[in-house]
Amino acid sequence: MKIVILTGAGISKESGIPTFRDGNGLWDNHNVDEVATSQAFINNPKKVLSFFQDRLNQMQSCEPNIAHHTIKKFEKKFDNVIIITQNIDNLHEQAKSKNVIHMHGNIFENKCLNCGHVQSINDEKHCIFCHSVDFRPNVVLFDEMPHHLEEILMHLSECDLFLSIGTSDAVYPAANFAQHVKSNGVKTVCFNLEKTPNNPYFDKFIQGKVSETLPIFLRNLEVKNDKIFL
Ligand code: NAD
Ligand code: ZN
Repeated sequence: MKIVILTGAGISKESGIPTFRDGNGLWDNHNVDEVATSQAFINNPKKVLSFFQDRLNQMQSCEPNIAHHTIKKFEKKFDNVIIITQNIDNLHEQAKSKNVIHMHGNIFENKCLNCGHVQSINDEKHCIFCHSVDFRPNVVLFDEMPHHLEEILMHLSECDLFLSIGTSDAVYPAANFAQHVKSNGVKTVCFNLEKTPNNPYFDKFIQGKVSETLPIFLRNLEVKNDKIFL
């Protein structure tokens, strides 16, 4: 049985990282067009780099919460678990999750502006391939293509259970995943504080803080003869 878990900013909120949209979110204090698009990076790279440096500084001191640790427990209980995250933090990795796909990039990585090589922010201060010192954070800006889409579509086409955790379903293409898998007969569950626009595509909506709802869900989840009992 294959489980695909899609996570969004809501899972990291209880670790102290603000989400984008819910009350007092990041976009209440910043203009997307000025700090998180490729045009902004051309117009004013310093401003964009400074915005992401602030995000990095904030994320560097954060630790995974019960929800991230519970996802690790899914990986122990079931053989085939894939985590697709829209988050650019490293809290799944800190919780020791293995199969993590960062579809919007990872702020703990830099991308060389000369050759495109991606390396950890803790590596050398120059690109280990072309020696350039010009980097940008390896994050997907609002008008850029998400990473790993082909691999993600393959996992979605193979999954038996799809869990959507702490995402507002406002950012595409991730917002399409629930409808896509539902049309293939996959069981789908949404964990959020409130219903999202994708609610019609979920078999079950579990309302509440994900650090509280996810451990209960995992305890009760049963699979017998390849049949899933939610
Ligand atoms: P979003 O801010 O649009 O939505 C967050 C969702 O999480 C909301 O629907 C909210 O109701 C829910 N939520 C908040 N706290 C919750 C909790 N404790 N338990 C359950 N649900 C909770 O975030 P999104 O859908 O991920 O999409 C926006 C984009 O934000 C993504 O592309 C992502 O790259 C980026 N982002 C990432 C981070 C991060 O890396 N941690 C932080 C902010 C934004
Ligand atoms: Zn390079």
